[in-house]
Amino acid sequence: MTKTEIKFGPGGFGMPAEEAFPKLEKDDLSAAEIEFTYGVNLTNEESKRLGELAKKHYIQLSIHAPYYINLNAEERQKIFMSKKRILDSCERAHHMGAKYVVFHPAFYFKDSKEEVYQRVKKEIESMQQIIKEKGWKIILAPETTGKPSQFGDIDELIRLHKETDCFLCIDFAHLKARYNGKVDYNEIFEKLKKNNITKIQAHFSGIEFTEKGEKKHIPTSKEDWKQILELFNKHNFSGVIINESPDNWNDAIKGKKLWDEINK
Ligand SMILES: [Zn+2]
Repeated sequence: MTKTEIKFGPGGFGMPAEEAFPKLEKDDLSAAEIEFTYGVNLTNEESKRLGELAKKHYIQLSIHAPYYINLNAEERQKIFMSKKRILDSCERAHHMGAKYVVFHPAFYFKDSKEEVYQRVKKEIESMQQIIKEKGWKIILAPETTGKPSQFGDIDELIRLHKETDCFLCIDFAHLKARYNGKVDYNEIFEKLKKNNITKIQAHFSGIEFTEKGEKKHIPTSKEDWKQILELFNKHNFSGVIINESPDNWNDAIKGKKLWDEINK
């Protein structure tokens, strides 16, 4: 029996890729997310080189678009700039050979969930049109968000996936924070399966939260890893799990080791 494949890796690696990628390979990690947190800081040429280097070391790359994005902004200019940040990330992803561009889509403000959904959908479709025209081989992956004030619960994102060509990134820690710790991960897996999604792009780490949701990512305990990986195993899910904790690299190794143990 072939075991289900999950690629593990860190979100950001705090050193030049020339150093990081061989180390990732040595540590048996095969994914990494490039974080454009405060802006798209690579040229197309640099992205291409990064992609070649990743390939050489068997690293599957994804990109996290800048944080300053709100597709439900009141001012037209802010929406335009949000889309530009996402599209610039897509262009780099294309040159890099990264498949998914992950982003936090929007804030609700005072608008109803349905209104915001329709706006986000419209903007995603307009970006997909541009992606198609440019011939970029990438997929938009809006992420489940960590605060109840942010658009992006699991149902909204599954609906977007069904109604547009986008995929989704499931941040399990965000979901926990969003629902104040009251999240049933098993239910999330069931929901995804019901919608024919069994290969996912995921984020996972420890998380601190308040009633307003996400406060900060914290190191990932073995129990946390165990809980989520046993569900991947039980439901036969595969894909990529990016760790975003302050100790992301070691936490990714922890996850990978545990996964190998579970599948021994
Ligand atoms: Zn994120």
